[in-house]
Amino acid sequence: MGALAPPFVGSRVAARLSRRLTVVVALVFVVLPLAGGVWAFAGWEATQTRSHAEAPLQDALQRATSGYQRILDDAGRQARALASSRRVQRAFERHDRRALDRLAQPNVRFVLGRHAPAAASDGAPTRTVRILLGKRRIGTVVVRVPFDGELLARLERTARLPKERRLGFVQARSLLLPSGSRSALPVDLPVNESSEVDAAGRRYIAVSAALTREAPAVRLVALAPASEILGPANDTRRRVLLAGLAVLAAVALGAYALAPLLGRNRLARAERERAAVVLSHMGEGVFLVDSSGVIRLWNAAAESITGMTAEEVRGLPAETALPAWASVSARVPTCKPDERSRPETIPLELRGRELWLSIAGVEFGDGTVYAFRDATSEHRLEAIRAEFVATVSHELRTPLAALQGAALTLTERGRALPPATREKLLAMIAGQSKRLASLVDDILLAGQLDAGSLRVEREPFSAAAVARAAVDEARQRAATKAMLRVSAADDLPRVLGDEGRTHQILANLIDNAVKYSPAGSRVDVEVQREEARVRFSVRDRGPGIPPAEQEHVFEKFYRLDPHHHYGVGGSGLGLYICRQLVSSMHGRIWVESAPQHGSTFTFELPIAGDRIPAAV
Ligand code: ADP
Repeated sequence: MGALAPPFVGSRVAARLSRRLTVVVALVFVVLPLAGGVWAFAGWEATQTRSHAEAPLQDALQRATSGYQRILDDAGRQARALASSRRVQRAFERHDRRALDRLAQPNVRFVLGRHAPAAASDGAPTRTVRILLGKRRIGTVVVRVPFDGELLARLERTARLPKERRLGFVQARSLLLPSGSRSALPVDLPVNESSEVDAAGRRYIAVSAALTREAPAVRLVALAPASEILGPANDTRRRVLLAGLAVLAAVALGAYALAPLLGRNRLARAERERAAVVLSHMGEGVFLVDSSGVIRLWNAAAESITGMTAEEVRGLPAETALPAWASVSARVPTCKPDERSRPETIPLELRGRELWLSIAGVEFGDGTVYAFRDATSEHRLEAIRAEFVATVSHELRTPLAALQGAALTLTERGRALPPATREKLLAMIAGQSKRLASLVDDILLAGQLDAGSLRVEREPFSAAAVARAAVDEARQRAATKAMLRVSAADDLPRVLGDEGRTHQILANLIDNAVKYSPAGSRVDVEVQREEARVRFSVRDRGPGIPPAEQEHVFEKFYRLDPHHHYGVGGSGLGLYICRQLVSSMHGRIWVESAPQHGSTFTFELPIAGDRIPAAV
């Protein structure tokens, strides 16, 4: 029992068949007109051959017609000679019919009398000469040239007709041959053209010329056996047709045989083009490193993720194009084409930029194809999340430990403690609870800002008053730690925004300035007008912020000292909240700082329009 072919084999066979069928249909459309062309060419060639073969027949006919003219001239001469003969003239003068009969010759007639003789009824041409006595006609000499076998035989000799070819006379559709045989023609012979005629049991090709025009008109016909003329013409037609059709058949067979190959090539090209399009539209970066370590392919997504164009990297060893590749490539998981590997997130330093790529490779015979996506922001988020956990747990642990310690002490030995110590412990509990509450507030507020659910007022308020209030409050919080100064221009316009949130921003910036500066150092708060905005700035003399970090300090949970090595606690949420609040009031915030030269945090808010005098 034969095994059934698997379905994909069946579909391949069907595809091949349909490809062949397409080729067959295409060939029919191409070959048919070509075959028509070959047919027409063969016909033309055959006509050429035929007219070539007919040319000697035409020449013979021409010679025979000229010969016939000469015979007519001879007849005229004969008539004139007879008319000048003394004996003939005497016989006419004497009206001697007997003498005339004796003098008569074949085709010559002596007609007595003064009347012109009647024309021959068979249409044979005559040459006549009148015999005059004085001015009176006494008779006529008539020489006839009859259209008979004898004349044909003479003309054939003149025309030098080869064997098998014949001359004939046609009169009223009756063909007379030199043998004397007569055949009836079914139609009139065409003028200036050859035609086929049947005579004496044979088929001939006939060409003809008119000898007499008046009825009954007579034509001289030159005949050649049809086989002599048509044979070569038919041979030519057959040869051309065979050669043409053989070429066509060879082309068709070749195309049919090559169809699968051509189809496969076209399919392969189409597939390559499709793959190139897919590759260029893929969101994932793809690059191919050949077995000698050279980058051969670099798609559009790879260009946009890395900022390096295909022209720059193609043809270069991977380690030259991507300097960090040497150290990280070993960490990139690779697998065989029919396996799957989990991408690995690896860092890649490119032109001073740190990129995190989630990347995996597939090895094939001639190299490895790597697919990657940009995981930089994910990685940063992950890092921030880890930092958040570390920060928040640290931030919680410190006050919680203090609270726990104070509460335990009070519970276990409260009564035995001196009142001052009890007071101190209670104050610590209050302070640490406040710190915990503010941390929770910050986390909640950041969540609201992220969700866009925080309501921010847009009311005019006095910038100077807010600054002054924020500085006063901060002075109380940090009485021993810093010298706080505030300055505001005299004619500050009112600001449009949320007074409470502006106070919160300023408080945060002032707290940071105090927190990150050495004890007792000076902090300046300044408010001034800047075109259509009011600018608030908080300047400290602290450690400053390195330029590379200045943008990042506004990110959520970002801290320069995440592990609190310098003993200054914080959640990394303060500046993030400031930036979100400022932008929700249509302002902007930034920092200018140089390490060891302090930092200036500045934010601007739009003015409300109507001015109020500054009261500092
Ligand atoms: P934190 O709660 O940690 O203070 P912030 O968002 O307010 O969080 O600040 C983010 C980080 O920016 C801080 O951890 C600190 O490293 C840095 N920073 C903020 N203000 C200053 C400043 N005035 N001087 C130096 N560093 C600062």
